Amino acid sequence: MNIAFDIDGVLYPWHNSVFNHLASSGKIGGESFFDFWVNGWKKFDESYWHYLASLEILYDNFNPYSGVLDTLMDISNRKHNILYITDRYSPQVVRVTERYFQRHSFPQHSNVFFSRDKRSTLSKLEVDIMVEDRYANLKDIAGMCKVLGMARPWNWEFRDEMEGMGVVFINHISGVLDYL
Ligand SMILES: [Mg+2]
Repeated sequence: MNIAFDIDGVLYPWHNSVFNHLASSGKIGGESFFDFWVNGWKKFDESYWHYLASLEILYDNFNPYSGVLDTLMDISNRKHNILYITDRYSPQVVRVTERYFQRHSFPQHSNVFFSRDKRSTLSKLEVDIMVEDRYANLKDIAGMCKVLGMARPWNWEFRDEMEGMGVVFINHISGVLDYL
């Protein structure tokens, strides 16, 4: 099978990196990680989010979420194809991503696809299972293949809606193994 993973919020804790960055630079104070990622993030405008998304360090200073590498190795050992599909976009971020995947020995690490249109990428790559965390992307790809939603604070308020579209939420990356 072709098993695809989004990177940020699924394999890499970019949201933790951002939260720490904002807290240490005094941009947020006192609110919990959960509250920030349900609501607090809305106080920053789109251009600030573009700026944050361009900061290389935020893609490099955390280890992958727990269980990620073990789960990916397990999938790879079962001879499935692993595809990494991300909407990370700036050229510097592409280099950081490739280095990070090599350094952490992600299996099949050359299969990274940088795509701002996940729908067409999924269809081109004939993906059987996609794991994604972002509401807008989940909504876009629901029904195209088996879509697994990674349960995170930032999709918490949309879960019922997503489940109504056939998305199944998992709480830990190893939940993918039940669908192989
Ligand atoms: Mg994501």
